[in-house]
Amino acid sequence: VSDGVSRRQFLTAGSFFGWLPFIHPKHIQIAGARFRIVRNGKSRRRYILIHGDEETAREVLTRHMKARQGIAFLVENKTRNVPAGSGKIDPNRMFSREGAARSLERLNPGLAANQMKAALAEIEDGLDHFLRALLPTHGGLLVALHNNSEAYSVQDELAISDDRSIREPQNPHAFFLCTEPADFKILANSGYNVVLQHSAGEDDGSLSRLCARRGIRYVNIEVGAGRAGRQQEMLQWLEWSLP
Ligand SMILES: [Zn+2]
Repeated sequence: VSDGVSRRQFLTAGSFFGWLPFIHPKHIQIAGARFRIVRNGKSRRRYILIHGDEETAREVLTRHMKARQGIAFLVENKTRNVPAGSGKIDPNRMFSREGAARSLERLNPGLAANQMKAALAEIEDGLDHFLRALLPTHGGLLVALHNNSEAYSVQDELAISDDRSIREPQNPHAFFLCTEPADFKILANSGYNVVLQHSAGEDDGSLSRLCARRGIRYVNIEVGAGRAGRQQEMLQWLEWSLP
């Protein structure tokens, strides 16, 4: 067998394994939240759309992944809350048991104790698998895209943040929320609003709190619903500026 043949066999085997669905699945699920996985090239960047009704963020991230390398997780549910057991939960509260329990209680008044237990078990069953797929390795960055309405802005985060840079006080709905001081330093030069949540605060079960706890670089880009141009601009700024 010449070197040429064995090399060719090796390359064929490599592309064969690359297509096996269990190595590169196109979907991943945790409780009733189903995510489409979009891969583009090789990069340690990770992206997530976790709230199904945030259509502006969905549109911006979908377009972004056509041009940028990385792996994106886009929730396929169209509603903000997703099924968990016989109840529903905010998917951005599934990342700790306390946070999940509180979200389930709030959204499902009258949920029996055994139903609560079953819903929490369903979330916990899928959590490790989901996080292994989602979280970046080797100092990579996880970017989450969210949209808000009148009810929520950077003002709600100030009291529980370690640091802040409010360069656009007239536009409180557009801001970065990050977990790493080094990223905060860079983002604070952007001219956009930024808050840092690095130290252990109240664990609400959100992805940002989990990343802060585990020392994972996480940046959330929040803008008002419908402000696609602004969200794209902030995402672009982040891509050019953060390592
Ligand atoms: Zn959201």
